[in-house]
Amino acid sequence: MTLEETTDQYRNRAYQWLSENLTLLEEELNEDDGGVAAYLNVDLETERRLLNETVVWHQKKLAAGFAAIDWPLEYGGQGLPSSYTQIFQEEEAKFVTPDVHEAFIVTTGMVAPTIRDFGSELLREKALKGILDGSDTCVQLLSEPDAGSDLASVATRAVRDGKEWIVNGQKVWSSAAHFSKWGFLLARSNPEVSKHKGLTIFLVPLDAEGIEIRPLKQMTGGSVFNEVFLTDTVISDDFRIGEEGQGWNIVMATLSHERAGTENWTAGGSYAQVRDLAFKTACNDSTLVRQKLAHLYIGDRLIQWNAQRAAALHKGGPPGADANIGKLLYGMQMDRVTDTVSHILGLGLVAEANEDFRWGEHVTGTPAYHIAGGTDEIQRNILGSRYLGLPNEPRP
Ligand SMILES: Cc1cc2nc3c(=O)[nH]c(=O)nc-3n(C[C@H](O)[C@H](O)[C@H](O)COP(=O)(O)OP(=O)(O)OC[C@H]3O[C@@H](n4cnc5c(N)ncnc54)[C@H](O)[C@@H]3O)c2cc1C
Repeated sequence: MTLEETTDQYRNRAYQWLSENLTLLEEELNEDDGGVAAYLNVDLETERRLLNETVVWHQKKLAAGFAAIDWPLEYGGQGLPSSYTQIFQEEEAKFVTPDVHEAFIVTTGMVAPTIRDFGSELLREKALKGILDGSDTCVQLLSEPDAGSDLASVATRAVRDGKEWIVNGQKVWSSAAHFSKWGFLLARSNPEVSKHKGLTIFLVPLDAEGIEIRPLKQMTGGSVFNEVFLTDTVISDDFRIGEEGQGWNIVMATLSHERAGTENWTAGGSYAQVRDLAFKTACNDSTLVRQKLAHLYIGDRLIQWNAQRAAALHKGGPPGADANIGKLLYGMQMDRVTDTVSHILGLGLVAEANEDFRWGEHVTGTPAYHIAGGTDEIQRNILGSRYLGLPNEPRP
């Protein structure tokens, strides 16, 4: 963008570039196109291929200046306000793009900005480029069997030994650990201070000695989660992110990037796909279906408006309340999709192995959206205490 370029001109230029590189949605998409699964349920080879398609497209955008739009120039960005990112995403949403894999969002949308904001110069030099361009996938090693919502209770222990750290513990629900290069690890470095103050973050190479990754089976049939065991794993102090004991503040910043990203989530099961399903199954005359479709359309618009407001208000620093609201809105929308397709398909949702059977993958994946990245209850707690001025949750 040049200084003379207005937002309208920027929008036009983005649209022009997109139309040279992608196919317009209207020309192509109907209910049968594009997956409807809320979470991927594919074999490892397919998952790698899908992730690669997302990364190739992202790298093309980076090269053309249409990714990392609001990043500083020195880190490979365009130095523009976040509202330009929103403009580009609105234009991009008009085209057929590769599905966005969750590991890609974690890598480029959460870990990359965290290293940009908190990493040492050395760490930025070593790891940032590959993480920002998506070639080096990252997994979040945060949750543990006894620390999920109460993340500050993590027990994985990091003990300093000169220029190194020795790490022991267990992580769980680690999405994509089985094909990630890096782990974004939250560990307890000081058990003597209050729980929020004794935490430190590391970027750990997953091929390090003492790391064992075991897949978990989900009700969707897939296996995107893992348990990760760390036994006497040695991490160089060069791979510490931020200061010792600063882990809690850093992880909060990382998670707020995830919530911010939810304003633009596009998991399978869109309003347009459900509308097309209603036409295909001749349910579009049903009063009830029409009402449900109207609610879906409203939900779609609310998500978009909230995203626009978040982008307009964002002036650097962590995203505000709109990020938490966006995550809640998205979960509600997924529930509406589930409700509408279940009404349209009835028993066919689970009992028939016809082409609509695939909507079962949406229905079984939707509950996860109320949990991943902080549950709905936790989002509401944050909204209450941080933005509405209500008393904090009691903390033992
Ligand atoms: C699809 C998916 C992907 C995930 N990927 C990852 C990953 O890659 N890496 C990772 O580290 N973790 C990951 N997680 C884990 C996720 O972050 C946790 O599941 C989540 O934070 C909730 O923690 P928990 O499962 O321990 O539930 P709990 O914390 O035990 O919560 C149980 C219930 O109690 C409620 N509750 C708890 N505390 C409060 C409170 N103070 N006020 C009100 N209600 C409360 C919760 O809302 C919930 O309903 C993933 C989860 C999902 C579903």
